[in-house]
Amino acid sequence: MRFALKYRSPGAYAPKIFPSFRKAQTGSMNIHEHQAKAVLKEFGVAVPRGYPAFSPKEALEAAKNLKDDSTKVWVVKSQIHAGGRGKGKFEGLGADAKGGVRVVKSPAEVEANADEMLGRVLVTHQTGPAGKQVNRLYIEEGADIKKELYLSLLVDRVSSRVSVVASTEGGMDIEEVAHSTPEKILSFTIDPATGVFPHHGRTLSAALGLKGDLSKQAYKLLQQLYAAFNAKDMDMLEINPLIITGDDQLLVLDAKVSFDSNSLFRHPDIQALRDLTEEDPKEIEASKFDLSYIALDGEIGCMVNGAGLAMATLDIIKLYGSEPANFLDVGGGATTEKVTAAFKIITSDPKVKGILVNIFGGIMKCDIIATGVITAVKEVGLKVPLVVRLEGTNVELGKKIINESGLNVIAADDLADAAAKIVKAVKG
Ligand code: GDP
Ligand code: MN
Repeated sequence: MRFALKYRSPGAYAPKIFPSFRKAQTGSMNIHEHQAKAVLKEFGVAVPRGYPAFSPKEALEAAKNLKDDSTKVWVVKSQIHAGGRGKGKFEGLGADAKGGVRVVKSPAEVEANADEMLGRVLVTHQTGPAGKQVNRLYIEEGADIKKELYLSLLVDRVSSRVSVVASTEGGMDIEEVAHSTPEKILSFTIDPATGVFPHHGRTLSAALGLKGDLSKQAYKLLQQLYAAFNAKDMDMLEINPLIITGDDQLLVLDAKVSFDSNSLFRHPDIQALRDLTEEDPKEIEASKFDLSYIALDGEIGCMVNGAGLAMATLDIIKLYGSEPANFLDVGGGATTEKVTAAFKIITSDPKVKGILVNIFGGIMKCDIIATGVITAVKEVGLKVPLVVRLEGTNVELGKKIINESGLNVIAADDLADAAAKIVKAVKG
């Protein structure tokens, strides 16, 4: 969330690389809503009863399991790693069809809706125009909503604390609220040394307009959410909406959670929740080789080492009139195998019309990069122009390897030269 993180980068691409918290951030792992609710439940958080379902038959079973005297309404919820499902549209169903979150009145309707939704592509304002295929549903008991609120916790890198964001405007796109009625959003931070204090509870209650027992519930909920956030190394926890039920109980109706990838090694339970069908195959391949890869929308594939140099490279490509197709950081000390994998990932993207390799060899040696690039080119072929700019350790050896390879590689001397050459090669 840009307004809360107060992230400011000199790079023109910062908003794309570190986008609003809705898109997976660099080094973040997302999970599904039903998984997030299960994690929160471990910490005592009140969530509706529900079961995931992968087929209409399972959806029917889930609905029957939920059926008791109190359940008269069921909710069929698409599980994709994107929000805005309620207002989303399914491809091939027409503009009047119901969205990705459907409230229905019988188990038979649950089954019929599941049949219509599963396997279909759902397009929301967070999925982009390509949408996401719905492979699983969450079948929940319906809740009686008196009021919808907004509550999220996220890492505030400026204060090095967990930031709490609260608003009375639940169920809406919070960035829209931030834009049109910023006074309706309140944010405060929690000191990690002391944790949640009663005054945080009172601040939250005031922000959400809660009194009496609801205020007590809000304090308890904040403590539970903060405990879950810290214990599981979350980097974002968004509840939209948090509701007040007809009988005045706070209930988490939607939950969107992501985790800091750097801490996943100590949370095998969270790692097990990863759903690879939700991720870009190129990003999965990259993570196997411990490469930092982020897909962007442009046409020039970039292989770079170090995030700073990557940012500078993206900016200068833009300056010379083109757009980067990705952000790929091979890191320090990459092996030939890793560089080969990186090169293959870039060339597998049909959007890539040219490749710029920009390496400053410090720990990473230029000859390793050169060998990796040449190995990869020999394996997968080179159908687009390639500009290589090497600088640093073993640079002469690296250049020699490239020059003697017999491949059609355009050598560049510095960053500006490299950008100018690749843009010219692509644009003609
Ligand atoms: P999102 O659109 O992806 O954010 O999905 P949500 O889980 O937030 O659901 C969207 C909207 O559906 C909510 O804001 C509610 O208004 C509505 N909704 C979700 N669950 C229930 C429910 O149990 N009962 C009722 N009446 N509405 C619900
Ligand atoms: Mn929601």
